[in-house]
Amino acid sequence: MDLSKTENGQPASTLRNIPAVEALLNRELLRELAARFGRQVVLEAARSALDRLRQQIRVDPEAGFSMESLESEIAASAETAAKPSLIPVINATGVILHTNLGRAPLARAALDHLVEAASQYSNLEYDLESGTRGKRDVHTSRLFGRLTGAEAALVVNNNAAAVFLALNSLAEGAEVIVSRGELVEIGGSFRIPDICAKSGATLREVGTTNRTRIADYAAAITDSTRLILRVHPSNFRIVGFTERPSLHELAELAGKRGLVLMEDLGSGCLVNLAPFGLHDEMPAVESLRAGAHVITFSGDKLLGGPQAGMVLGKRDLVAKIRKNPLFRAFRVDKLTIAAIEATVALYLREDYAAIPAQRMIRASREEIAARAERLAKRLGALAGFEVTLVDGESVAGGGSTPGQILPTRLIAVTHRSRSAQNLAEELRRNRPPVIVRMEDGHLLLDLRTVLDDAQEAEIARAFTQLAATAQCAE
Ligand SMILES: *Cc1c(COP(=O)(O)O)cnc(C)c1O
Repeated sequence: MDLSKTENGQPASTLRNIPAVEALLNRELLRELAARFGRQVVLEAARSALDRLRQQIRVDPEAGFSMESLESEIAASAETAAKPSLIPVINATGVILHTNLGRAPLARAALDHLVEAASQYSNLEYDLESGTRGKRDVHTSRLFGRLTGAEAALVVNNNAAAVFLALNSLAEGAEVIVSRGELVEIGGSFRIPDICAKSGATLREVGTTNRTRIADYAAAITDSTRLILRVHPSNFRIVGFTERPSLHELAELAGKRGLVLMEDLGSGCLVNLAPFGLHDEMPAVESLRAGAHVITFSGDKLLGGPQAGMVLGKRDLVAKIRKNPLFRAFRVDKLTIAAIEATVALYLREDYAAIPAQRMIRASREEIAARAERLAKRLGALAGFEVTLVDGESVAGGGSTPGQILPTRLIAVTHRSRSAQNLAEELRRNRPPVIVRMEDGHLLLDLRTVLDDAQEAEIARAFTQLAATAQCAE
């Protein structure tokens, strides 16, 4: 009888030699790890390391193990587990408001104000004049009023919440007229018909996908109609034989029939961006001037601020939305208010260069070409790589209309033995990860969205490492 095996044939001795998790945790190195990462993290790492070891011994009874290798395995996984999983990445795609990459990076001034306001007590809801309770909206209303002429403003969690809350407050149980050309889906799950239904309003579709006339709106109005909704088609564009009434015409109709005219501006820019190539974005002030009673837009799209949804417009309508009990569920915290306040203040100062999203939109092709040339030279000198510069296009992204393009200069990279796919994968594994653009199997870098020299240097470093490992592999 083989005493070294248990009944089911397992090597009793090796399995028996595996330390108990408690004993393992009492070892010097693991105690140090627990002090750094917390006992829970180290305990979990130790348990799964031991599980893996047992599994291994069951498969290969002769497999040995050393305390040192066990410890270093635990240390490595504890370190990984203790690290945040939300980490900065370098966006070399040229998509400025890349929703998957966090949309707009914040301005320095916004970050500073956020830290200042959030690390201490603040007058978030406290009126310093009277010493009594105040409203958190006053901080942002003041600035939006000055910038757009809006009578009142509210901030909620995002534009989806803004649209929902406005429809729920202003049109619950009533009819809302929307053009069939504007019944869009944005991103994963924001669909105008769904939002409308959830808000308790009944959607009344008018016109056709490509053409809707003012007469279509007029004919659809009944006693139950409360609101006309205009929606920015965002990531969707109808071209060719198209028609829709101007906002002005809609305002006239709404005024005549006693209806609310609401516009979901989507990206919502605060300044005219047509000179930079973005022709389809109506600045908030224009929409209000044309006669929209309520407008909504995102904080982290073209505005370049934090995730938020703005509701601007007539005092009585905004007050009605503010009174909705759901406002409480959608309101933003002091971090967001601080970041918006500081970002909007930069617009008031016309300091667009200080807002990353605005700076990227305004960067000229020549400016980007100069940077691309510099980086291409560094990458081209690396063994195995071939680097060329090609003309291309950046996009605003984040639901801005397609077809509005920003001319750019791209770095196209190929490697003699590795596929573009493989290179892209390796670059994602870099820390910080470098996210590139893939087009027809080609790897492209668009420096429009690469924030600064430090990020360019980081890209060069990532490629240098790639060149070294590729050479070893060959
Ligand atoms: C992006 C967008 C939304 C959703 O905005 P979020 O801030 O992402 O919630 C709603 N409507 C339009 C027209 C949009 O473009």
